[in-house]
Amino acid sequence: MDTIREDAITIQPLHTDWYGGKVARMDMLRLDLIHPRVSGNKWYKLQFNIQEAMENGKSSVVTFGGGHSNHLIATAHACKIVGLKSLGIVRGHYSVLTQTLLNCEAEGMELCFAEKAEYDALQLADGVEKLLLKYPGAAIIPEGGANESGRRGAALIGRFIRHHYTHIALSVGSGTTFAGLRNALPVGQSIIGFAPMKGGSYLQQEVGPWLISTQNKNWEILDKWHFGGFGKSSEELVRFMNQFYQAHRIPLDFVYTAKMMFGVQELLDTGYFNAHDIILCIHTGGLQGNASLQGKLAW
Ligand SMILES: *Cc1c(COP(=O)(O)O)cnc(C)c1O
Repeated sequence: MDTIREDAITIQPLHTDWYGGKVARMDMLRLDLIHPRVSGNKWYKLQFNIQEAMENGKSSVVTFGGGHSNHLIATAHACKIVGLKSLGIVRGHYSVLTQTLLNCEAEGMELCFAEKAEYDALQLADGVEKLLLKYPGAAIIPEGGANESGRRGAALIGRFIRHHYTHIALSVGSGTTFAGLRNALPVGQSIIGFAPMKGGSYLQQEVGPWLISTQNKNWEILDKWHFGGFGKSSEELVRFMNQFYQAHRIPLDFVYTAKMMFGVQELLDTGYFNAHDIILCIHTGGLQGNASLQGKLAW
């Protein structure tokens, strides 16, 4: 079993050639380096969820995700480390398991499949109650680790971020990591979220109420770079990922971080930043999801 290595996290400068002098400096926070399959931000979102499950004497964790979910594999791994049983409720049915689901099983997670309607219903209050009857002693963690404990855990990522950065770029799914960081970082630092799904600007309404009022400024979520929708890819995106790898030796994941960096590049090209800005792009991980691009990537 590969172990989680927070000490492997680095801040890697991007090449001046890549941002062409349009900003003073651009770095990447490599949260992807903690583990080959566990996403950096998922690990942090799980910290307090798992800790609370242990403190409350729970024997298992039940959580939710799709067939390629970074959250499911991270939960399976985190539970294995502390000796909790884990059950993953998977959206949809699979006659052949995805690599992610196989890896979840290898980490000891039991899988249970549900059609979308049932999957959605199980996450509502009634559904959670039903699950607790069936699995007494379970801690139920929402999809993506998207709860208050998840936001507090994500705030821990703030420890890696020095105050001289003027802008933080971050990919956004549920907005949990984004909200945790907005609450943790100085309001003077601007945080730009990149939504990888169509119409992702709805996330602005989701995130707002999670923010401490004094922290509710200097942030925005952009949704232009979705490449057809969540989990969708294109030749252009894959080409970009390969070029980015050739320039920096940094692998990006096609669901989140590649779309973010594509967006960052377009912001550079369209004069969004000032020449004195210092940018930190957060690599949240997600590389295990690239299994479905096999053969197309330069690494
Ligand atoms: C889940 C995930 C995100 C989005 O995180 P949220 O807290 O749900 O907004 C971003 N990047 C990667 C790699 C992820 O796995």
